[in-house]
Amino acid sequence: MNEQMNDEGRTVRIIGAGPTGALLAILLQRRRYTVELYESRPDPRTGAAESGRSINLALADRGIHALQMAGVFPDIERLLLPMRGRLIHHLDGGTSLQPYGQRPNELIYSISRQHLNQALLDVAARQPGVTVHFEHRFEGAEFDEGTALIRDLRQDRLLSIPMQPLLAADGAGSWVRRRMSSLHFIDADETDLEHGYKELSIPADAAGRHRMARDALHIWPRGNYMLIALPNEDGSFTATLFLAKRGGMSFDSLTEPVAIEEFLARSFPDACALMPNRVAEFQNHPVGFLGTVSASPWAHEGMAALIGDSAHAIVPFHGQGMNCCFEDCMEFDACMSRHTSWEGVFAEFGAMRKPDTDAIAAMALDNYLEMRERVADPKFQLQQSLSLELERRFPQRFIPRYSMVMFHHEIPYRTALERGAIQTELLAGLTADPVTTLAQVDFEHAEREIHSRLAPLP
Ligand SMILES: Cc1cc2nc3c(=O)[nH]c(=O)nc-3n(C[C@H](O)[C@H](O)[C@H](O)COP(=O)(O)OP(=O)(O)OC[C@H]3O[C@@H](n4cnc5c(N)ncnc54)[C@H](O)[C@@H]3O)c2cc1C
Repeated sequence: MNEQMNDEGRTVRIIGAGPTGALLAILLQRRRYTVELYESRPDPRTGAAESGRSINLALADRGIHALQMAGVFPDIERLLLPMRGRLIHHLDGGTSLQPYGQRPNELIYSISRQHLNQALLDVAARQPGVTVHFEHRFEGAEFDEGTALIRDLRQDRLLSIPMQPLLAADGAGSWVRRRMSSLHFIDADETDLEHGYKELSIPADAAGRHRMARDALHIWPRGNYMLIALPNEDGSFTATLFLAKRGGMSFDSLTEPVAIEEFLARSFPDACALMPNRVAEFQNHPVGFLGTVSASPWAHEGMAALIGDSAHAIVPFHGQGMNCCFEDCMEFDACMSRHTSWEGVFAEFGAMRKPDTDAIAAMALDNYLEMRERVADPKFQLQQSLSLELERRFPQRFIPRYSMVMFHHEIPYRTALERGAIQTELLAGLTADPVTTLAQVDFEHAEREIHSRLAPLP
């Protein structure tokens, strides 16, 4: 290591103690850095759950692998609720389960955002050399002087702290990113989705049990909008309604209780029976923002770098945002072992990681269409079954794209995107009319195509 990382650089400042900032602090401490973590919110371990952000999250293989590598998975494991597939709720009240994968370990897990944050912060805060400053907000940076301005919100005092390096893990609305962009150090783009989201709740039954299957992610796909529900440990589900923000049928237009009730009852009759507070929650809960953040480069010299959502927030439809952030932390850590200066670490991290985060951003947007529209389409369902069958027959060459993303951390996102595009073409060809069942698929042709177009996976 050179002087920069050894001497002045021995203290690292991180902005934001969300999942990215907390895991990064743990990894830096393992490399014997002193870590100062600044978080604008109060300590989540002492207060009620934050409102306005998703209550629970899906954790999958990439996130789990990163937590295992960082040695913190034992602190998280007990918080996980396994989900083995999508349980589709059709408009006529019927349901069908679409398994996520076909091996016993191909599951994803529901976890409370608050409990996960608390657990990670607990681990971070008990490391010697890690200090978490809650209610300290980043408000600006003087790059010429190499200082950042942090407001101590409890005492309303402005502090000036040295950067070099400053790691910005302050999420999708990153103030650090906006500052770097306003100074033209980086190009940054925030693309707002035309849809927003609102959380509703499905309480537990009188005995504290889940009122629907607890081992599934429930989806009510309705074309231009959808409802999903993930199980919580206390027997409840958190439901999330994704709907256009403006226009005919939208959060803007649905304001009157009668109209809200009519819309929910018509669109999700079985869910309504389980949501006694639906209209009040609809009226009182905020509409959450959904969007994609793209920035380039992610760093300014060896002084400041973006990581996690601040660099590449994505829409939540693949359940990968946080998983991707955890993977970022491991990639960043790996770059640290290969470089002797922060500038070198930042440059390699950005160059190596951005093609993957661009790929998952594209797949997350694509998954929105899949969840709200395609999952209910018989042709799509046939292609899903066929892709699992092709994986059984040719496991070295064909893995469904969803599985590559969710269950195979060893396959980079960019590879999943590239191979997924080829596989989509193959599936469309193999299920073209008049094929309507698996028995009608020409598997000899499938084998020839797969061998000519998909190289074996390492
Ligand atoms: C509706 C929804 C559902 C989602 N579902 C999933 C899912 O199922 N699976 C999944 O993997 N991902 C999911 N995500 C994405 C996931 O929430 C994010 O990818 C993840 O939280 C990003 O972590 P982060 O630490 O980078 O940013 P954040 O979680 O946003 O944390 C940033 C932290 O920085 C703090 N901060 C912000 N500004 C400042 C400042 N100026 N000064 C100091 N501190 C500051 C914030 O208070 C916060 O604590 C979902 C997101 C949404 C919106």
